[in-house]
Amino acid sequence: MMTPEQYMDSLRSLKKEVYFMGNRVENIVDHPAIRPHIHAASVTYRLGTDPEFVHLGEARSHLTGRPINRWTHIPQNQEDLVKKAQMLRVAGQITGTCFQRCVGMDALITLYTITWDMDRKLATRYHDRFRAFLIDTQDRDYMTVGAMTDPKGDRSKRPSQQHDPDLYVRVVGKDEKGIVVRGAKMHQTGAVNSHQILVMPGTGMSSEEREYAVSFAVPADAPGIVYVFGRQVNDSRKWEGKLDQGNPAYGVVGGEALIIFEDVFVPWERVFMCGETEFSGVLVDRFASYHRQNYGACKAGNLDVLIGASTSVSEMHGVLKAGHVRDKLAEMAHLVETMYSGALACSYHCSILESGVAFVDPIIANTSKYNTARYYPEVTRLAQDVAGGFIATIPSEQELDNPRVAAYIRKFYKTGESVDPVERIKLGRLIENMTGATPIVECMHGAGSPQAQRVVVQRSIDWNGKKQLARSIVEGAEIPSASGGHTG
Ligand SMILES: Cc1cc2nc3c(=O)[nH]c(=O)nc-3n(C[C@H](O)[C@H](O)[C@H](O)COP(=O)(O)OP(=O)(O)OC[C@H]3O[C@@H](n4cnc5c(N)ncnc54)[C@H](O)[C@@H]3O)c2cc1C
Repeated sequence: MMTPEQYMDSLRSLKKEVYFMGNRVENIVDHPAIRPHIHAASVTYRLGTDPEFVHLGEARSHLTGRPINRWTHIPQNQEDLVKKAQMLRVAGQITGTCFQRCVGMDALITLYTITWDMDRKLATRYHDRFRAFLIDTQDRDYMTVGAMTDPKGDRSKRPSQQHDPDLYVRVVGKDEKGIVVRGAKMHQTGAVNSHQILVMPGTGMSSEEREYAVSFAVPADAPGIVYVFGRQVNDSRKWEGKLDQGNPAYGVVGGEALIIFEDVFVPWERVFMCGETEFSGVLVDRFASYHRQNYGACKAGNLDVLIGASTSVSEMHGVLKAGHVRDKLAEMAHLVETMYSGALACSYHCSILESGVAFVDPIIANTSKYNTARYYPEVTRLAQDVAGGFIATIPSEQELDNPRVAAYIRKFYKTGESVDPVERIKLGRLIENMTGATPIVECMHGAGSPQAQRVVVQRSIDWNGKKQLARSIVEGAEIPSASGGHTG
């Protein structure tokens, strides 16, 4: 297993074509826009190797028996799923933001199960290939991009009906050595700081869309792969200073990038689906459930940090004893624990798939993600309420070194005798950062827009069973006789 330092160093040897703000980034590891995200991802390596966290971050490979990082582990039982949720909450607490590695983890788990299913039903030979890829990933402790979301073009049209056939990743060539793929994947978390990309279809494909039903893995610096790193609100603060970033160590969300596939060659040993359209829909659904399990846990961890910042600022402002402030902080904690309950519940209420892999309860996992999309913004609203308007108007950190006004900043931002005004400003910046646009959009659309979760719940609920429950009540179930039943 790699340590955080070894992980960061391992990225230096990758020769990726990365662009940011019009320029090619030659050294991603030390780039100020990217560095905090790499540091956030390195926490997943810390959990696997730091004695304080190995009870969560280390697992034993069910394939080799060797100790591996849990972020590459295939859950074998209920305990594995519960530990996944617990590990996500802890990583969320340490970073206060997205640590990126869960998308690839869920892609590994999903492809392991789907290749098994395909081989059983269609007599294909994908599963052994995938196992070899997985063992390599586990032994090298690689970070994997979980690449599902296509650009999608006009959402009302199918992949094959788009004005441009490249709006969904597709196979454009095939020979005895492998396939050639073209297209793009959008919003890819941790893309520029991962070792490899695991591509999945972005939607269920119809039988005429065989070229779009494709899954494969490629090294992150394979020829023909181009990355365009995204911008975020206030990102220029990363190269202007430190304090104003709010979370200078770990950044805001997951350093997402557009990945372009310019006719990329993939050898057959790394192809895990090629034309099996009937399995594309189940792949997307299964990945979505595993991934939606996470949000109630990692975002709970992030919001633990926000609750801490809000409590400290309220204390500094002398309002912590006010009834309505305590109520609001308690409401924040209640919403956060509700989110986490869903992540745990879908883990405890798991089933074992035919491939032997533990699978979360899909209805609860989807409900949990849906709640997270609703509750995260609500918690941020309460944080802004108790923190006060200063989080939107703090002067720049440069004023703390401006001889004309620095003393005034310290004087007027000091709220009480024992309050350090710079500490207060730092916490204010953290609250500004965590309650701004980017993390809220992440909670809304990451792992799928809320409507996607509603659809799963709507189609999975046993409506007739519920009607039957009501009918059996109104039709008069036998009331047990009181005699003998009462022991008082
Ligand atoms: C911070 C962040 C990180 C992410 N990380 C990853 C990642 O690592 N890997 C990855 O693969 N993806 C990732 N995603 C992508 C994420 O899964 C998508 O954003 C999500 O699935 C929604 O897709 P979209 O953004 O294209 O929105 P859209 O699909 O455009 O949705 C916008 C709205 O349109 C509605 N809509 C969409 N299609 C239809 C339709 N046909 N009919 C009716 N209504 C429709 C939706 O319900 C929604 O309300 C990430 C996203 C974010 C924001």
